[in-house]
Amino acid sequence: MNETLYTRSGSEALEMMRQAPQLFESYHEGFRQQTRDWPVQPVDVAASWLSGLPSDLVVADFGCGDAKLMRTVKQKVLSFDLVANAPGVTACNMADLPLADASVDVSVFSLALMGTDYGAFLEEAARVTRRGGWLWIAEVRSRFGGGGVEKKEDFRPFLSCLAQLGFRLTKQDASNRMFVTWILKKDSDIGQKGGLRWPKLKACVYKRR
Ligand code: SAH
Repeated sequence: MNETLYTRSGSEALEMMRQAPQLFESYHEGFRQQTRDWPVQPVDVAASWLSGLPSDLVVADFGCGDAKLMRTVKQKVLSFDLVANAPGVTACNMADLPLADASVDVSVFSLALMGTDYGAFLEEAARVTRRGGWLWIAEVRSRFGGGGVEKKEDFRPFLSCLAQLGFRLTKQDASNRMFVTWILKKDSDIGQKGGLRWPKLKACVYKRR
């Protein structure tokens, strides 16, 4: 099931979930089990970063899962996932959010870049995030071609696409063994939708500690 979401587009995944919502439950149970043993959860890192930002910001949580972020932070969080699995979650494909242009201050992707068209999710984030706002991403390291200590991941093609959307990297943290986090600032609205060559990311293998 995990594999399935990584090998389909967002709209295919949404269609699948509509037809068989129980798939979502089993996927989520798997996700929870696999990440439970991680010493640090990305969503908690996001929450801790948000605790240092003003409380009147509006945050969009892309692929929110059980919407822990919304329950944890002081800011208003708009939560989106394929299935509304918790109160307050809007069910949709995150390539196509029911939000106006430049309507949020912060977009968050915590392990949410699933799907062959993940770039469309980030382009959507560029649309809904106001200039001067933030993009926060956590993603599994091995998806970027890393193969243990001897083989380093290459994040540059990915970050270069984000730069073309107007997102300037302000901080990369690769100190965690499981995932990398990036904080980017939206400096401009130059980013146009489509036409970017997003690097292919590997399907995720959740490593146990
Ligand atoms: N952010 C949460 C959950 C991560 S799991 C956390 O860190 O705990 C990734 C989530 O992205 C899953 O809940 C999955 O259903 C969702 N997802 C994957 N593709 C999606 C899409 N196209 N649109 C909306 N949500 C999607």
